[in-house]
Amino acid sequence: MSNVMVITGGSRGIGAACVKLAVQAGFDICFSYVSNKEAADKVSAEASAMGGTAKAVQADVGNEADILHLFAEADKMGVLKSLINNAGIVDQSQRVEDYTVERLNRMYSVNVVGSILCAREAIKRMSTKHGGKGGTIVNLSSAAAYLGSPNQYVDYAASKAAIDTFTKGLSLEVADEGIRVNAVRPGLIDTDIHESGGEIDRVKRLEHMVPMKRGGSAEEVAKGILWLTSDDASYVTGDCMNVTGGR
Ligand code: NAP
Repeated sequence: MSNVMVITGGSRGIGAACVKLAVQAGFDICFSYVSNKEAADKVSAEASAMGGTAKAVQADVGNEADILHLFAEADKMGVLKSLINNAGIVDQSQRVEDYTVERLNRMYSVNVVGSILCAREAIKRMSTKHGGKGGTIVNLSSAAAYLGSPNQYVDYAASKAAIDTFTKGLSLEVADEGIRVNAVRPGLIDTDIHESGGEIDRVKRLEHMVPMKRGGSAEEVAKGILWLTSDDASYVTGDCMNVTGGR
């Protein structure tokens, strides 16, 4: 049976970089996208060209039924060994007094509730307590969790701080059930997410604030994530690893 990895938001950015590295590491991938089918199909085709398998599933992690569908599709491929909770969103730069409840509900249902529900589905399959063979979960946090992102998206920063705490608590809950749970906190990474927050040039504008004086690439983050899923990290759990160029 294949070793299956579920990656949420695998069609672009850090998630797409994870798909490619995970294929090289020998996983069969089941990844979600929300709307960009063209990008998802391209990632699947690239995985095939590498001799691997990456199944694209349209599944919004802000929707529980979609999450159940994503994991049901993964079950058809083999035994779940790993979950990368990567899908996450920002919103337009705003001060807190301008937030709407719709903005907050969307942000938290995708970044927090979606990640927790995906972890729930992974634990049911991987925990030795439930007859599973163990596995790994990597949650995508952000340097925003400790920087706070004032005047941009404090709500996003707080959602990522929730991911840090969730990572800690869950890692302790399943530590003796064969599951390692860690988080990666990317810093300023060159992906489309900044454009979706209305700031195409965000990396160029802010890279002088990074001690290494440059933005990072999706591949640099994906390498850290894949290391945490590997046996090389066999004694690492409950950690939040910064991939931030020192920021
Ligand atoms: P990105 O380039 O915007 O890509 C987002 C990916 O997630 C796309 O594949 C997108 O699918 C998918 N997605 C978005 N909403 C989704 C939903 N509701 N359900 C399922 N999939 C969804 O993002 P990124 O920069 O790679 O960020 C990945 C993760 O790293 C996020 O959790 C983000 O918060 C975190 N992070 C990023 C940075 C950075 O500077 N880039 C820094 C810190 C943390 P479609 O293609 O269908 O839209």
